[in-house]
Amino acid sequence: MRYLSTRGDAPVLAFDEVLLAGLARDGGLYLPESWPQFSPGEIRALAGKPYAEVAFAVIRPFVAGAIAEADLKRILDETYAGFEHAAVAPLKQLDSRTWLMELFHGPTLAFKDYALQLLGRLFDHVLRQRGERVTIIGATSGDTGSAAIEACRDRDRIDIFMLHPRGRVTEVQRRQMTTVLASNVHNIALEGTFDDCQDQVKAMFNDLAFRDAMNLSAVNSINWARIMAQIVYYFVAGVALGAPDRAVAFSVPSGNFGNIYAAYGAGRMGLPVAQLIVGSNRNDILTRFFDSGTMAVGGVSPTISPSMDIQISSNFERLLFDVFQRDGTKVKQVMAGFRKSGSFAVSAEEHQRLRRLFDAHRFDDSETAAEIAARLQESGELLDPHSAIGTAAARAETRPEIAAVVALACAHPAKFPEAVEQACGVRPELPARLADLYEREERCSTLPNDLAILQDFIRDRRQDPPQRAASRTKGAA
Ligand SMILES: *Cc1c(COP(=O)(O)O)cnc(C)c1O
Repeated sequence: MRYLSTRGDAPVLAFDEVLLAGLARDGGLYLPESWPQFSPGEIRALAGKPYAEVAFAVIRPFVAGAIAEADLKRILDETYAGFEHAAVAPLKQLDSRTWLMELFHGPTLAFKDYALQLLGRLFDHVLRQRGERVTIIGATSGDTGSAAIEACRDRDRIDIFMLHPRGRVTEVQRRQMTTVLASNVHNIALEGTFDDCQDQVKAMFNDLAFRDAMNLSAVNSINWARIMAQIVYYFVAGVALGAPDRAVAFSVPSGNFGNIYAAYGAGRMGLPVAQLIVGSNRNDILTRFFDSGTMAVGGVSPTISPSMDIQISSNFERLLFDVFQRDGTKVKQVMAGFRKSGSFAVSAEEHQRLRRLFDAHRFDDSETAAEIAARLQESGELLDPHSAIGTAAARAETRPEIAAVVALACAHPAKFPEAVEQACGVRPELPARLADLYEREERCSTLPNDLAILQDFIRDRRQDPPQRAASRTKGAA
């Protein structure tokens, strides 16, 4: 399988190169040249299989030519063996047409583990093949940081440096990062805001000499391999509820549009998807787009579902590529205009075509809290605020052709104990494996918001790659 950029102006790459590159050189996002196709018979054959086996069937065509089948199989078995629930992504029935897919059985209790646990292992495997090491840097306002750290801890070929704004993440979020004491994990509490953290990460990527010397890489949500890994659980849920003979709708609490785009991908591969329902909080750029056909940037205000507090949904560009019939030049023009003016529109016909598949609903914090209380009362499920937006959006969706809808439970309620307790009076408990989180030792360095100091810190702490050091130091000295 080969991959092309949504902006049509970057080299076509193999899977291992796309994995390490993240963003394409033309600023676009990578996509497979064509979607692998699954026949009804092949989909039916997935029913009842363990999660790792479905993952193998779904992922194999995407990595063909880059990762040997036996290696892929071993990596997938190892990845999902570490999840707490035997089903990995279990389904629970909420009412006669609504199911909940629990995606919080990984090490950091959010759905990001389902992709990142695989990504860390794929990085290590590909880097070993290529004889390289990377330095992963990232900025986090909470959730992504811990999932990335858990994915990279103890990996031979990776050093990870994660910046968070000092004092501005919750204690659970901070401890999930800082109590990982592996020698290749480096937590930095930056004296600044989340935006300062992001700006410093960007500045380090833009310093090309530093970028090359450190072999910088990222595992943020635009990495193709994360989408690929997320496609798997849509197949798992679909076949459990009767695919290919019954179409299923999915309701997805959305921010960067990565998770719901993976559902769209599953549909492109042959899974019958009745409808895709986008759930938003007050930061409703996506909901406004699906209502109007115009994507317009607004401000960001903090909510009780912080992982969806986004200004721009970066993965939407992948859908736009299809909306424009895979015309990369047009995507490039539209994205350039979007950056300048803060808005773009699709044609009425394109909008209508999208609306056949997509619908979107928005909920403010008090509606989200009311949904948490209602679900607890009516079905005994304690939901986190993000998951509650998913179930609320599923209930708001009244198209008669939907016989079954799967709402995604994207995080464990104990990740957001204050908001959940305020909504319904019940304080969610951390699962047993994290019960001692508050007693664990923390390791973290506080640094000023200063690029040169950050770069020195990273140079000093990362492990020197022996096979590259010789050739690189000459050039750098
Ligand atoms: C990341 C995240 C989201 C948003 O997912 P996208 O793929 O960015 O749309 C929603 N809920 C939770 C709990 C998350 O961690």
